[in-house]
Amino acid sequence: MRVGIIGAMDEEIALYLEAMQETKTTTKAGITYYEGTFSGRQVVLCKSGVGKVNASVCTQILIDAFGVDQVIFTGVAGAVHPELNIGDIVVSTDCVQHDMDVTPLGFKPGQIPFTEKWIWEADQHLVQLAVEAGQQLGEDIHVVTGRILSGDQFVADREKVKALYEEFAASCTEMEGAAVAQVCAMNEKPFVVVRSMSDKADGSAHVNFVEFTKLASQRSYAIVEQMLSKLSPKAIVYSTKGCVDCELVKQWLTAKGIEFEVRDVMTSRAYQEEVERFGFMGVPVTVAGDKAFKGFHPDELEKLFS
Ligand code: SAH
Repeated sequence: MRVGIIGAMDEEIALYLEAMQETKTTTKAGITYYEGTFSGRQVVLCKSGVGKVNASVCTQILIDAFGVDQVIFTGVAGAVHPELNIGDIVVSTDCVQHDMDVTPLGFKPGQIPFTEKWIWEADQHLVQLAVEAGQQLGEDIHVVTGRILSGDQFVADREKVKALYEEFAASCTEMEGAAVAQVCAMNEKPFVVVRSMSDKADGSAHVNFVEFTKLASQRSYAIVEQMLSKLSPKAIVYSTKGCVDCELVKQWLTAKGIEFEVRDVMTSRAYQEEVERFGFMGVPVTVAGDKAFKGFHPDELEKLFS
Protein backbone atom coordinates (compact mmCIF):
# COMPACT_ATOMS: atom_id res chain seq x y z
CA MET A 1 0.00 0.00 0.00
CA ARG A 2 1.36 3.39 -1.00
CA VAL A 3 -0.07 6.71 0.05
CA GLY A 4 0.07 9.80 -2.15
CA ILE A 5 0.49 13.04 -0.19
CA ILE A 6 -0.16 16.31 -2.03
CA GLY A 7 0.41 19.89 -0.98
CA ALA A 8 0.04 22.84 -3.35
CA MET A 9 2.87 25.01 -2.03
CA ASP A 10 6.39 24.61 -0.61
CA GLU A 11 5.20 25.51 2.91
CA GLU A 12 2.65 22.70 2.80
CA ILE A 13 5.16 19.94 2.03
CA ALA A 14 8.30 21.26 3.79
CA LEU A 15 7.85 19.30 7.03
CA TYR A 16 7.20 16.03 5.19
CA LEU A 17 10.36 16.46 3.14
CA GLU A 18 12.38 16.98 6.32
CA ALA A 19 10.92 13.86 7.92
CA MET A 20 11.06 11.49 4.94
CA GLN A 21 13.78 8.90 4.71
CA GLU A 22 15.72 7.53 1.73
CA THR A 23 13.88 9.71 -0.70
CA LYS A 24 13.96 9.03 -4.43
CA THR A 25 13.14 12.01 -6.62
CA THR A 26 11.45 11.94 -10.05
CA THR A 27 10.05 14.80 -12.12
CA LYS A 28 7.04 14.40 -14.43
CA ALA A 29 5.06 17.15 -16.16
CA GLY A 30 7.09 19.70 -14.23
CA ILE A 31 6.08 18.27 -10.84
CA THR A 32 8.64 16.64 -8.54
CA TYR A 33 7.63 13.42 -6.78
CA TYR A 34 9.45 12.21 -3.65
CA GLU A 35 9.16 8.47 -2.98
CA GLY A 36 10.15 7.29 0.48
CA THR A 37 9.04 6.31 3.95
CA PHE A 38 7.12 8.60 6.25
CA SER A 39 5.52 7.73 9.57
CA GLY A 40 6.12 4.01 8.93
CA ARG A 41 4.45 4.11 5.48
CA GLN A 42 5.56 4.00 1.87
CA VAL A 43 4.54 7.41 0.55
CA VAL A 44 4.88 9.52 -2.56
CA LEU A 45 4.94 13.21 -1.73
CA CYS A 46 4.57 16.07 -4.20
CA LYS A 47 3.89 19.75 -4.57
CA SER A 48 1.16 20.04 -7.17
CA GLY A 49 1.31 23.79 -7.60
CA VAL A 50 -1.71 26.03 -7.09
CA GLY A 51 -5.07 25.47 -8.77
CA LYS A 52 -7.29 22.69 -10.05
CA VAL A 53 -5.42 21.88 -13.26
CA ASN A 54 -2.12 21.37 -11.43
CA ALA A 55 -3.87 19.29 -8.78
CA SER A 56 -5.60 17.11 -11.40
CA VAL A 57 -2.45 16.36 -13.39
CA CYS A 58 -0.54 15.62 -10.22
CA THR A 59 -3.18 13.24 -8.84
CA GLN A 60 -3.48 11.27 -12.08
CA ILE A 61 0.31 10.88 -12.26
CA LEU A 62 0.42 9.74 -8.63
CA ILE A 63 -2.07 7.03 -9.50
CA ASP A 64 -0.73 5.97 -12.93
CA ALA A 65 3.02 6.33 -12.59
CA PHE A 66 3.49 5.82 -8.85
CA GLY A 67 0.70 3.36 -8.10
CA VAL A 68 -0.65 5.07 -5.00
CA ASP A 69 -3.66 3.37 -3.41
CA GLN A 70 -4.98 6.40 -1.56
CA VAL A 71 -4.45 10.13 -1.62
CA ILE A 72 -4.25 12.70 1.17
CA PHE A 73 -4.23 16.43 0.46
CA THR A 74 -2.51 18.44 3.18
CA GLY A 75 -2.60 22.21 3.35
CA VAL A 76 -4.25 25.50 4.17
CA ALA A 77 -7.56 27.13 3.25
CA GLY A 78 -9.79 30.13 3.83
CA ALA A 79 -12.56 29.59 6.39
CA VAL A 80 -16.09 29.88 5.01
CA HIS A 81 -18.15 28.70 7.99
CA PRO A 82 -18.64 31.77 10.21
CA GLU A 83 -17.65 29.89 13.36
CA LEU A 84 -14.29 28.75 12.02
CA ASN A 85 -11.13 30.64 12.93
CA ILE A 86 -7.55 30.79 11.73
CA GLY A 87 -5.71 27.62 12.80
CA ASP A 88 -8.89 25.50 12.96
CA ILE A 89 -8.87 22.32 10.92
CA VAL A 90 -11.38 21.01 8.40
CA VAL A 91 -11.36 17.35 7.39
CA SER A 92 -13.34 16.92 4.15
CA THR A 93 -16.65 15.13 4.21
CA ASP A 94 -16.92 16.05 0.51
CA CYS A 95 -15.55 18.50 -2.06
CA VAL A 96 -17.25 20.67 -4.70
CA GLN A 97 -15.93 23.05 -7.38
CA HIS A 98 -17.59 26.34 -6.47
CA ASP A 99 -16.46 28.00 -9.74
CA MET A 100 -18.16 25.37 -11.93
CA ASP A 101 -21.08 27.58 -12.90
CA VAL A 102 -23.37 26.64 -15.76
CA THR A 103 -26.46 28.01 -13.99
CA PRO A 104 -27.55 30.12 -17.04
CA LEU A 105 -28.23 26.81 -18.81
CA GLY A 106 -30.28 25.48 -15.92
CA PHE A 107 -27.62 23.48 -14.09
CA LYS A 108 -27.17 23.72 -10.34
CA PRO A 109 -24.28 25.75 -8.83
CA GLY A 110 -21.19 23.50 -8.88
CA GLN A 111 -22.83 20.97 -11.19
CA ILE A 112 -20.71 19.59 -13.99
CA PRO A 113 -23.06 19.66 -17.01
CA PHE A 114 -24.71 16.42 -18.08
CA THR A 115 -23.58 14.47 -15.02
CA GLU A 116 -25.32 13.64 -11.81
CA LYS A 117 -22.05 13.57 -9.90
CA TRP A 118 -20.30 16.74 -8.82
CA ILE A 119 -20.07 16.29 -5.06
CA TRP A 120 -17.07 14.10 -4.29
CA GLU A 121 -17.29 12.22 -0.98
CA ALA A 122 -14.12 11.53 0.96
CA ASP A 123 -13.30 8.05 2.22
CA GLN A 124 -15.00 7.55 5.58
CA HIS A 125 -12.18 5.55 7.12
CA LEU A 126 -9.60 8.20 6.20
CA VAL A 127 -11.91 10.92 7.52
CA GLN A 128 -12.30 9.08 10.81
CA LEU A 129 -8.54 8.55 11.16
CA ALA A 130 -7.90 12.24 10.45
CA VAL A 131 -10.48 13.38 13.00
CA GLU A 132 -9.09 11.05 15.66
CA ALA A 133 -5.57 12.25 14.90
CA GLY A 134 -6.79 15.85 15.17
CA GLN A 135 -8.39 15.24 18.54
CA GLN A 136 -5.03 14.04 19.85
CA LEU A 137 -3.40 17.37 18.99
CA GLY A 138 -4.87 18.96 22.11
CA GLU A 139 -8.08 20.55 23.33
CA ASP A 140 -7.25 24.04 22.10
CA ILE A 141 -7.12 22.82 18.50
CA HIS A 142 -10.53 22.80 16.87
CA VAL A 143 -11.10 20.01 14.32
CA VAL A 144 -14.34 19.72 12.34
CA THR A 145 -15.56 17.74 9.36
CA GLY A 146 -17.26 19.57 6.53
CA ARG A 147 -17.59 20.43 2.87
CA ILE A 148 -14.53 21.83 1.17
CA LEU A 149 -14.96 24.13 -1.83
CA SER A 150 -12.38 24.54 -4.57
CA GLY A 151 -12.10 27.12 -7.31
CA ASP A 152 -9.38 28.84 -9.28
CA GLN A 153 -9.84 31.95 -7.17
CA PHE A 154 -8.22 33.24 -4.01
CA VAL A 155 -11.30 34.34 -2.08
CA ALA A 156 -10.68 37.56 -0.14
CA ASP A 157 -14.06 39.22 0.08
CA ARG A 158 -16.64 39.18 2.86
CA GLU A 159 -19.65 39.22 0.56
CA LYS A 160 -18.25 36.46 -1.62
CA VAL A 161 -17.48 34.23 1.36
CA LYS A 162 -20.99 34.79 2.73
CA ALA A 163 -22.47 33.86 -0.64
CA LEU A 164 -20.35 30.69 -0.80
CA TYR A 165 -21.55 29.69 2.66
CA GLU A 166 -25.19 30.27 1.77
CA GLU A 167 -24.94 28.56 -1.61
CA PHE A 168 -22.93 25.48 -0.64
CA ALA A 169 -23.09 25.16 3.18
CA ALA A 170 -19.32 24.76 3.08
CA SER A 171 -16.69 24.87 5.79
CA CYS A 172 -13.76 26.30 3.85
CA THR A 173 -12.52 27.27 0.41
CA GLU A 174 -9.26 26.56 -1.39
CA MET A 175 -7.98 25.87 -4.89
CA GLU A 176 -7.20 22.15 -5.30
CA GLY A 177 -9.21 19.74 -3.14
CA ALA A 178 -12.19 19.10 -5.43
CA ALA A 179 -9.85 18.41 -8.36
CA VAL A 180 -7.92 15.82 -6.36
CA ALA A 181 -11.23 14.40 -5.19
CA GLN A 182 -12.71 14.10 -8.67
CA VAL A 183 -9.59 12.45 -10.12
CA CYS A 184 -9.54 10.00 -7.22
CA ALA A 185 -13.23 9.21 -7.74
CA MET A 186 -12.70 8.70 -11.49
CA ASN A 187 -9.95 6.20 -10.63
CA GLU A 188 -11.82 4.63 -7.69
CA LYS A 189 -9.17 5.64 -5.17
CA PRO A 190 -10.00 6.78 -1.64
CA PHE A 191 -9.01 10.32 -0.64
CA VAL A 192 -9.25 12.83 2.16
CA VAL A 193 -8.43 16.54 2.27
CA VAL A 194 -7.04 17.98 5.51
CA ARG A 195 -6.96 21.79 5.61
CA SER A 196 -6.04 24.14 8.41
CA MET A 197 -7.34 27.71 8.15
CA SER A 198 -4.73 30.28 7.11
CA ASP A 199 -7.35 33.05 6.72
CA LYS A 200 -11.08 33.75 6.70
CA ALA A 201 -11.40 34.41 2.95
CA ASP A 202 -12.45 38.00 3.80
CA GLY A 203 -10.94 41.45 3.28
CA SER A 204 -7.94 40.52 5.49
CA ALA A 205 -7.31 37.18 3.78
CA HIS A 206 -4.27 38.27 1.78
CA VAL A 207 -2.55 39.56 4.95
CA ASN A 208 -3.59 36.62 7.15
CA PHE A 209 -2.60 34.11 4.48
CA VAL A 210 0.98 35.37 4.48
CA GLU A 211 1.10 35.43 8.28
CA PHE A 212 -0.56 32.11 9.09
CA THR A 213 0.27 29.72 6.24
CA LYS A 214 3.23 28.28 8.13
CA LEU A 215 1.28 27.59 11.32
CA ALA A 216 -1.69 26.18 9.42
CA SER A 217 0.58 23.93 7.34
CA GLN A 218 2.15 22.60 10.55
CA ARG A 219 -1.26 21.66 11.90
CA SER A 220 -2.28 19.75 8.80
CA TYR A 221 1.09 18.01 8.87
CA ALA A 222 0.66 16.97 12.51
CA ILE A 223 -2.68 15.34 11.68
CA VAL A 224 -1.46 13.50 8.61
CA GLU A 225 1.63 12.23 10.45
CA GLN A 226 -0.58 10.81 13.21
CA MET A 227 -3.12 9.28 10.86
CA LEU A 228 -0.45 7.56 8.78
CA SER A 229 1.05 5.88 11.81
CA LYS A 230 -2.43 4.48 12.53
CA LEU A 231 -2.82 3.36 8.93
CA SER A 232 0.50 1.58 8.78
CA PRO A 233 0.65 -2.14 9.38
CA LYS A 234 3.23 -2.32 12.12
CA ALA A 235 5.74 -5.04 11.22
CA ILE A 236 6.35 -8.06 13.45
CA VAL A 237 9.80 -9.64 13.45
CA TYR A 238 9.98 -13.20 14.77
CA SER A 239 13.56 -13.73 15.87
CA THR A 240 15.95 -15.31 18.37
CA LYS A 241 18.87 -13.90 20.29
CA GLY A 242 22.21 -14.03 18.46
CA CYS A 243 20.60 -14.47 15.01
CA VAL A 244 22.57 -12.32 12.56
CA ASP A 245 19.87 -12.11 9.88
CA CYS A 246 17.31 -11.11 12.53
CA GLU A 247 19.50 -8.14 13.42
CA LEU A 248 19.85 -7.23 9.74
CA VAL A 249 16.04 -7.25 9.33
CA LYS A 250 15.64 -5.00 12.38
CA GLN A 251 18.32 -2.62 11.09
CA TRP A 252 16.65 -2.51 7.68
CA LEU A 253 13.23 -1.71 9.20
CA THR A 254 14.75 0.98 11.43
CA ALA A 255 16.54 2.59 8.48
CA LYS A 256 13.23 2.62 6.58
CA GLY A 257 11.40 4.22 9.50
CA ILE A 258 9.00 1.25 9.75
CA GLU A 259 7.76 0.52 13.25
CA PHE A 260 8.11 -3.07 14.40
CA GLU A 261 7.54 -5.40 17.28
CA VAL A 262 10.06 -8.16 18.08
CA ARG A 263 8.78 -11.62 19.07
CA ASP A 264 11.47 -13.96 20.36
CA VAL A 265 10.32 -17.45 19.40
CA MET A 266 12.46 -19.03 22.15
CA THR A 267 10.39 -17.29 24.81
CA SER A 268 6.97 -18.52 23.72
CA ARG A 269 5.50 -21.61 22.11
CA ALA A 270 2.70 -19.40 20.76
CA TYR A 271 5.21 -17.32 18.77
CA GLN A 272 6.66 -20.50 17.24
CA GLU A 273 3.16 -21.57 16.23
CA GLU A 274 2.53 -18.18 14.64
CA VAL A 275 5.63 -18.64 12.49
CA GLU A 276 4.51 -22.14 11.53
CA ARG A 277 1.06 -20.83 10.59
CA PHE A 278 2.75 -18.68 7.95
CA GLY A 279 4.33 -21.93 6.66
CA PHE A 280 7.85 -21.24 7.88
CA MET A 281 10.42 -23.03 10.05
CA GLY A 282 13.10 -20.87 11.60
CA VAL A 283 13.74 -17.14 11.82
CA PRO A 284 13.79 -14.30 10.99
CA VAL A 285 10.23 -14.09 9.77
CA THR A 286 8.93 -10.59 9.04
CA VAL A 287 5.17 -10.05 8.92
CA ALA A 288 3.32 -7.02 7.54
CA GLY A 289 -0.47 -7.27 7.51
CA ASP A 290 -1.25 -10.66 5.98
CA LYS A 291 2.10 -11.03 4.18
CA ALA A 292 5.23 -12.68 5.57
CA PHE A 293 8.80 -13.31 4.46
CA LYS A 294 11.55 -15.51 5.92
CA GLY A 295 15.17 -14.42 5.92
CA PHE A 296 16.96 -11.17 5.18
CA HIS A 297 16.61 -9.96 1.62
CA PRO A 298 16.07 -6.21 1.09
CA ASP A 299 14.21 -6.61 -2.22
CA GLU A 300 11.75 -9.11 -0.72
CA LEU A 301 11.27 -7.00 2.41
CA GLU A 302 10.60 -3.99 0.19
CA LYS A 303 7.76 -5.96 -1.47
CA LEU A 304 6.18 -6.68 1.91
CA PHE A 305 5.73 -2.98 2.55
CA SER A 306 4.83 -1.76 -0.92
N1 SAH B 1 1.82 30.81 -3.33
C1 SAH B 1 1.11 32.00 -3.80
C2 SAH B 1 -0.34 31.72 -4.12
C3 SAH B 1 -1.16 31.15 -3.03
S1 SAH B 1 -2.80 30.85 -3.54
C4 SAH B 1 1.33 33.11 -2.80
O1 SAH B 1 2.12 32.97 -1.89
O2 SAH B 1 0.74 34.17 -2.95
C5 SAH B 1 -3.50 30.24 -2.06
C6 SAH B 1 -3.24 28.80 -1.73
O3 SAH B 1 -3.72 28.55 -0.42
C7 SAH B 1 -3.97 27.83 -2.62
O4 SAH B 1 -3.19 26.67 -2.81
C8 SAH B 1 -5.29 27.54 -1.88
O5 SAH B 1 -5.63 26.17 -1.92
C9 SAH B 1 -5.04 27.98 -0.44
N2 SAH B 1 -5.91 29.02 0.11
C10 SAH B 1 -5.73 29.57 1.33
N3 SAH B 1 -6.63 30.53 1.57
C11 SAH B 1 -7.42 30.63 0.47
C12 SAH B 1 -8.52 31.48 0.11
N4 SAH B 1 -8.95 32.42 0.93
N5 SAH B 1 -9.08 31.30 -1.12
C13 SAH B 1 -8.60 30.36 -1.96
N6 SAH B 1 -7.56 29.55 -1.66
C14 SAH B 1 -6.96 29.67 -0.47
